[in-house]
Amino acid sequence: MIATRVCQRFKKVVNISNSKRVKVMFNSGKQEIKCYSSTISDSTRSKGFAHNYFRFTDYDCLGFDLDNTLARYKVGAMIEMEYDILANFLVDNKGYSAKHLLKPLDHNFIIKGLIVDDENGNLLRISGDGTIIQATHGTKILTQQEVKSYYPNLRWRATDLFAEDPLQTWNGPYSEKMRTLLDYYDVIVSLIFARAVNSIDEDNSDRKLYNIWPDLLAALQDMFTREHFQNEKGKYFAEIKANPHTYYYKCSNHLIRWLNDLKAKGKILFLITGSYVDFATHTASHTIGENWRDMFDIVISYAKKPGFFTDHKDFISLDGFKEGEALKIDDLKLGGIYTQGNWNDLKTFLETHSKLSNPRFLYIGDNLVQDIYTPHVYAGCDTVTVCEELEAEGVYGHEKWHPDEQFLCSTVWGSYFKSKDTGQMTNWYDIMKKHSKFFVPSLEYVATFPVDHQFKIDIY
Ligand SMILES: [Mg+2]
Repeated sequence: MIATRVCQRFKKVVNISNSKRVKVMFNSGKQEIKCYSSTISDSTRSKGFAHNYFRFTDYDCLGFDLDNTLARYKVGAMIEMEYDILANFLVDNKGYSAKHLLKPLDHNFIIKGLIVDDENGNLLRISGDGTIIQATHGTKILTQQEVKSYYPNLRWRATDLFAEDPLQTWNGPYSEKMRTLLDYYDVIVSLIFARAVNSIDEDNSDRKLYNIWPDLLAALQDMFTREHFQNEKGKYFAEIKANPHTYYYKCSNHLIRWLNDLKAKGKILFLITGSYVDFATHTASHTIGENWRDMFDIVISYAKKPGFFTDHKDFISLDGFKEGEALKIDDLKLGGIYTQGNWNDLKTFLETHSKLSNPRFLYIGDNLVQDIYTPHVYAGCDTVTVCEELEAEGVYGHEKWHPDEQFLCSTVWGSYFKSKDTGQMTNWYDIMKKHSKFFVPSLEYVATFPVDHQFKIDIY
């Protein structure tokens, strides 16, 4: 049972016992604490599973993603804002149907992790072995027979390759055929795409190729082009800059203390974010706080994950927000901030400064391809997945609680982790389970425990 109370200014720390945990959330500027039992009920335990444990302090160098990992967004507000910008861009600049695209947002349709088949106008979900387990054409749910008419034996070459190794479709010919909507930056693209398909079907029922993606890409580029943060073009950055409190949660004192406690134990902390340094600074300042740089031994922005973990780009120096020259590994400094770069050099840097012969590395993030699969498979990092759906759906030992549950949970698709119809687990669950040591709904959840807490990981 959930007991809720609002604590003014966080004066009172709720007792933490073996059976109770403190949950921290922020809502409209109020700090609110929810206390609930985290004792995992017998029904959620996997019977006969050997007990395993995970402990953050078993690692020497701990890396963090920024957006939707350390920096929590008010996901619902963000998605509504993005829908508005993308839909209006397509209507105003690309001639799409206002009747379809400017309808009220249907949050029941969206779910993280949908796969776009642009050629056929379909959205898909697959299992870990690549079998297509659910699909829509536009917003229309397809029967299994209809799915088979598009994808014989419920298989498609693009998703087969993705299931084998997601990086096989990241670049090259199949990156033109399928797209994955992996995080809250692009989750809303699924509804825009589906409604654009609906409108094309209405106008040209015999049309075979949809080719919506180039227009969507133009809309996304207009929204996220890094130069727009400073030159005031585009609507996305302008809105976040004007109303940061509408879109960001501030990190709790618990989480700041948790990070400081890791540092006090001699751990090296590093940040690798895809955001360019100006936007990253804005986000980190409004979430972690003005002194956010002090938390990290090194910060890498505009890192271009997943390529950061597989390629060998140089690190680039920064003069304020302006990129300078390419750097050699010896040029990297503790406390420094750089753009681009690569994991091999960063690893060498971290090894040197850890003063350990064989330090253990952990990377924590939310994007299952960029932050979890690739660092684990290509860089040998252990990883922790941050997945807000754990709380939005109330699964794997977590209470069902999330202020934006309606945006994260879908009545159309069912659970993020398994198919609504067949119960087959999704490829996303598969990646989380295979490639992360531990998955959590937020770092705020983790920070209610001491840094050296042993988490049981036998529940999923
Ligand atoms: Mg992220």
